[in-house]
Amino acid sequence: MSTFQAPKGTYDLIPPDSATYLAVREAIAAPLKNSGYGYIETPGFENVELFSRGVGESTDIVSKEMYAFETKGGTKLALRPEGTASVLRAALQANLHKLGNLPVKLWYSGSYYRYERPQKGRYRHFSQVGAEAIGAEDPALDAELIILADQAYRTLGLSQFRILLNSLGDKECRPVYRDALQGFLRGLELDEDTRRRVEINPLRVLDDKRAVVQKQLVGAPLLRDYLCDACKAYHEEVRELLTAAGVAYQDDEKLVRGLDYYTRTTFEFVHDGLGSQSAVGGGGRYDGLSEMIGGPALPSVGWALGVDRTVLALEAEGIELELPATTSVFAVPLGEEARRVLFGLVTELRRAGVATDFSYGGKGLKGAMKSANRSGARYALVAGERDLAEGVVQLKDMQSGEQSPVALDAVLDAVRERLA
Ligand code: ATP
Ligand code: MG
Repeated sequence: MSTFQAPKGTYDLIPPDSATYLAVREAIAAPLKNSGYGYIETPGFENVELFSRGVGESTDIVSKEMYAFETKGGTKLALRPEGTASVLRAALQANLHKLGNLPVKLWYSGSYYRYERPQKGRYRHFSQVGAEAIGAEDPALDAELIILADQAYRTLGLSQFRILLNSLGDKECRPVYRDALQGFLRGLELDEDTRRRVEINPLRVLDDKRAVVQKQLVGAPLLRDYLCDACKAYHEEVRELLTAAGVAYQDDEKLVRGLDYYTRTTFEFVHDGLGSQSAVGGGGRYDGLSEMIGGPALPSVGWALGVDRTVLALEAEGIELELPATTSVFAVPLGEEARRVLFGLVTELRRAGVATDFSYGGKGLKGAMKSANRSGARYALVAGERDLAEGVVQLKDMQSGEQSPVALDAVLDAVRERLA
């Protein structure tokens, strides 16, 4: 094969579809920017230990899915598989938590990498927009994040999604539950891998999607029945705040999520039109993570929404975002003289903020008008020698087909007036 292809499990975002991705990222970010979250960007790779410690050795993410490698200098790095550990690392490194303004609220948007079995909605390179609120234990903060994600999805026009909600308890009550669950799981007929998981991270067995496992889990002890009073009260408050905000959710006692760092509030956004890759986003509280990566105790909460799957959800619901045309005006020169004059006008319009494009490559009228059409521009500026001799260009309305001469020095005003 002589041509290169995108690596397995990846795909390119190309126009015009790429505009939808950008709009989805912006729609998710908008409610965050409007709620006190500041933008943060961290490197695409980190020391591998940040993830093995922060996300957890026993998670699929670290044990199977991580792109880990050694640099020429012998440093062990990994492409970031998720955002939370990096964002918290960066916040600690910059001492943001010491500025006396907790919680530190941050949002991010970027590429993440997991060595997965590629299928629809599951890629090796994917995109998330995420938010973290670091350093405060307050049920209103958990509720805020869930409300903002709900708002983002609703602004996009999505309605067939559900919010699953659970509490994973804290360091007081979770160990008691863990023991009880382990006792129950040890009595089941499980394969070797799963039995090992029972010993290392029994909660994750609840998350096993296989029917053979699920049917044995009927009657498993539920965390709900083990939550300590503080966790119960906290969770009840989150639920009440969501209800008061008109955000519907479903209690899901089996929702544990794949990451080791979660405590108390955990949630997942699932979309019913996506088949088996139904999770469009997820998050929760991670009160222990900061200490796990060498920081002080900093109770925190966050989420990450998958951009790729959100786009698939839009498709599943048949939603086409109303994206403004990228080009408003398209210039079509006929002849050399017109080329120079119109190119000057294009520059003037662009400097004035009008989205303008130009017919390059010396096309004839027919080809150039085709380009004007394809650009989606509302107006075309057409000029030939005769127009220039009269000091005008033709301003053509691409919708009605109407055309009228406009004096060269009045083009900007005429265009502005019409576009307003
Ligand atoms: P899943 O259970 O589907 O593997 P996850 O629990 O691993 O999801 P998170 O780590 O919580 O996912 O990431 C948050 C969101 O990022 C997911 O809800 C999903 O939308 C998206 N996401 C995660 N992994 C992938 C992937 N490999 N390809 C595309 N999107 C992904
Ligand atoms: Mg996963």
